[in-house]
Amino acid sequence: MKKSSLTILGCHSSIPTKKFNPTSQILEMKGNYFLIDCGEGTQVQLRKAKIKLNKITDIFISHLHGDHYFGLIGLLSTFHLLGREKSINIYAPRGLKEIINIHFKWSYTRLKYSIKYVELISNKLEKIMENKNLEVFSIPLKHRIYTNGFLFKEKLSKRKLNIEEIKKVPDIQIFNYKDLKLGQDFKTNDGKIISNNQLTFDPPKILSYAYCSDTSFHLPIVEQIKSVDLLYHESTFLKIEENRAIHTGHSTADQAAYIAKKAKVKKLLLGHYSNRFPNIKSFEEEAKKVFFNAEASEALKTYYL
Ligand SMILES: [Zn+2]
Repeated sequence: MKKSSLTILGCHSSIPTKKFNPTSQILEMKGNYFLIDCGEGTQVQLRKAKIKLNKITDIFISHLHGDHYFGLIGLLSTFHLLGREKSINIYAPRGLKEIINIHFKWSYTRLKYSIKYVELISNKLEKIMENKNLEVFSIPLKHRIYTNGFLFKEKLSKRKLNIEEIKKVPDIQIFNYKDLKLGQDFKTNDGKIISNNQLTFDPPKILSYAYCSDTSFHLPIVEQIKSVDLLYHESTFLKIEENRAIHTGHSTADQAAYIAKKAKVKKLLLGHYSNRFPNIKSFEEEAKKVFFNAEASEALKTYYL
């Protein structure tokens, strides 16, 4: 299976411009395609990133500021026009369902596929989705309106068979493979125990990704994102505009890096930049002074967990 990856579709805040796209990203994890936020123009960015629209099964919306969901009605309409039949799950705060329904009501559109809404209302970390390969949790953030980040965590997969070693034990039959993959030792016909370690390899390490946009500097996040492989944390402003960050419910690059350092994450991606700072490398430079493995994310780039 392909390694989990994150493709940034847009990583700027507020207004879309010729150069910059508002927030949206695709997380590819264990064969799932998750769309996280859906700012204006997301469907065009998906085309540019060559991501097949039909692969998306779940959409996670952090909050109802327009730069995080204005692209959603367009995308849902396109799904319909392309003849999508597969249902889609949308995880979002209360209100989004009403907004979408009103549009489709007054455009007299009956979608060819169904939308299953999961309304997020909790103020604590909560599991909101699970399948056989992974789990997703909401992370309460501190912003001007009700906002969640999301934590995506792979599940530990089964052990891999060491066929070369297995062949050396004639008593092992194909029907024993299931137990071996689950970590059980093997007992030969003459009662000898062969330890599982000898017959299998460790499963691949589990990976995790945390998405935190938009939020003020908020220390309770630290516990919830501890040691993730990749953290995307907003850095709308630079330290010189810290007051503006406080006032608008956002963070500075320096604060994002402090959170990353405290949480001992492996890598920090910055984003949700204000258009006031045309050079995104200045965010990276500021963050690196606090947390070395920080990078300013860029639209249409893919990052591996
Ligand atoms: Zn916002």
